[in-house]
Amino acid sequence: MLVVNDNAYSEIYFDPSDRPISIFEIEGAKEVALELFSLSKGYNMTGWRIGWAAGRAEFVNALGVIKSNTDSGVFTAIQDASIVGLDMPFESHDHIRDLYRDRKNRVVSRLSAAGVKMYPSKGTIYLWGHVPTTESSVQYASRLLQETGVVIGPGVGWGPSGEGYFRLCLTTPDDRPDEAIGRIVTDLEKWKSSHS
Ligand SMILES: *Cc1c(COP(=O)(O)O)cnc(C)c1O
Repeated sequence: MLVVNDNAYSEIYFDPSDRPISIFEIEGAKEVALELFSLSKGYNMTGWRIGWAAGRAEFVNALGVIKSNTDSGVFTAIQDASIVGLDMPFESHDHIRDLYRDRKNRVVSRLSAAGVKMYPSKGTIYLWGHVPTTESSVQYASRLLQETGVVIGPGVGWGPSGEGYFRLCLTTPDDRPDEAIGRIVTDLEKWKSSHS
């Protein structure tokens, strides 16, 4: 059995003590594991469809056999852009981490102040909160979309345990999350006054 570690968020954490580990930091892992990384999150290249697999040659070759029969190489301009990204000093990740941390803190404090129970994350570009109305997560997300134009993820989309929760994605530039949070807060005030 091969253990495949999908390490897409290895660079997106907010406190050094929460740094996700590579599976290869565990003794013996090289014998049984393959690790995947995507430039989507840590390099802000979502949708560019590029990453890598690291591990023993026989495991990577097996993946290569499947890949070369299902698709072909990534567009070379994207490969070139990735090389530029990977050649950047490693500290440039600090900037990305700072950006997501500030954005997360701002969104958490504004929504918490409005009475939404938020769950500040230790990493990733996502943020979870408790649905602040008596609606299901799908009802809440659909109504927000229709009435405010804001897209949130209904928690149930990640499995039945997600019911009652919603997920926000923090990837858009700062004025847009600010605008979206403002609309969510206004909607909640309206909802509360019509249900009291
Ligand atoms: C974003 C993400 C990926 C990367 O997918 P891409 O197709 O490279 O964008 C892989 N695994 C997880 C868990 C992710 O969230």
